[in-house]
Amino acid sequence: MSRESSSRDQWSHLSGIVWQLASRVGLVVGLSLLIGWIAGNMGWWLALGLGTYLLLQLRNLWELDRWVRFRSVLHPPDFSGPWGELTAVIARIYRRKQFHKQRVANLLREFRRLTSGMPDGAALLGQHNELLWFNQKAERWLGLRRKRDVGIRIENLVRYPAFVQYLERGDFTHSVTVLQQGVQQHWLSIHLVQAEGSKQKLLIVRDVTHEIRIEAMRKDFVANASHELRSPLTVISGYLDALADDTELEETWKEPVREMRRQSERMRILIDELLQLSRLENSGELTDNQRVDVCGLLSLLRKDVLSLARRPAEINLQLDTDVCLSGAETELQSVFANLISNAVKYTPPEGRVDIRWWRDSEGAHLSVADTGIGIAAEDLPRLTERFYRVDAGRSRDLGGFGLGLAIVKHALQRHDATLTIDSELGKGSKFTCHFPPERITARAYPAVAGN
Ligand code: ADP
Repeated sequence: MSRESSSRDQWSHLSGIVWQLASRVGLVVGLSLLIGWIAGNMGWWLALGLGTYLLLQLRNLWELDRWVRFRSVLHPPDFSGPWGELTAVIARIYRRKQFHKQRVANLLREFRRLTSGMPDGAALLGQHNELLWFNQKAERWLGLRRKRDVGIRIENLVRYPAFVQYLERGDFTHSVTVLQQGVQQHWLSIHLVQAEGSKQKLLIVRDVTHEIRIEAMRKDFVANASHELRSPLTVISGYLDALADDTELEETWKEPVREMRRQSERMRILIDELLQLSRLENSGELTDNQRVDVCGLLSLLRKDVLSLARRPAEINLQLDTDVCLSGAETELQSVFANLISNAVKYTPPEGRVDIRWWRDSEGAHLSVADTGIGIAAEDLPRLTERFYRVDAGRSRDLGGFGLGLAIVKHALQRHDATLTIDSELGKGSKFTCHFPPERITARAYPAVAGN
């Protein structure tokens, strides 16, 4: 039954009760007047009739009021007529309310049972980030206490600086990972979820210690293996170089030695790139910030490309600003060199590469655009993954391992910078690095024309 039709029913019921009461009053008045007319003194009989009737109504009202107040323990009064109907209407409203209350209580109980068995911690925050509710896991991992902490703002309870910054930033697309110090170290991943239009937030917390340890083991393994491979490879390359220089080497061995030298050089590049990547991943925040002359670096890189035998016909460099960056020179050089070398590798000889360095209110930007083979939209999100190559065969032929853009991504992250990629298959690609204003430093000496 709809809410509208049930309230209409109640109204018609109530008007029926009022009508019954009015007709009873009419009957009392009529009878009193008749008795008064027969016995004489109509006024007294009318007063007596109405007074008695009023007393009866007051008694009913008193009983109804007592029942309404103590209805959970008392039975409904046994009235007849309009009072009986009024009692039935109230009892029905009360039963419906009880039913809904019970349903909400059941739902809440079920919700509590489910959330207490959840593998993740969960907490509900109010409009001002005050703690409204939390489950057992959140209690354990975040050190919350049921009676004491409800109503207190979460930043006063969970004080990890990374979490407080995350909360202040208000961008909850990703989670934040914090290290919990204690008898045992734990890594916690905290994610806030805010439904559209809602002022409340759901905080989800997970213990990611195991994942972080596995990731650290993987990184260590790659770094150690690469390191250990380096020495034997140096020895092998040394012997191969000696063999290649040997004038008495038999003709049949010359081509195999040349191929072995090519492959050992490829291996050296792979090991260097792996070591570079693991250094970027394992070193903490950048502490040693130098003034990096981007214009000078780009001019040198362009010169290197111009000296290549196989390259696109046009390599343009447009320097719209001469500002420098504050950061690690080797890392930034590696970023620019990787982007430029990719543009050169994946652009045919008749194509063009445009390098541009400029500054605006959002910071400083470097773009490397080419008119090469381009990249399909579905490959774009995976480009910066390690060893991801759109066309593995082609990339291998061009000397690539799919590590270049992973190095670019990590080095840029360490400089608080981001990378955007625009590309269209068959038309070309544009890779742009965006550096925040805090990374910009002025030149220490007058700029030299870079083009
Ligand atoms: P690689 O050493 O194989 O070039 P990268 O990590 O630098 O590895 O690049 C990953 C993949 O992205 C490449 O294999 C290539 O398929 C694609 N790619 C990178 N830059 C370009 C570009 N400028 N034009 C077309 N494809 C590109």
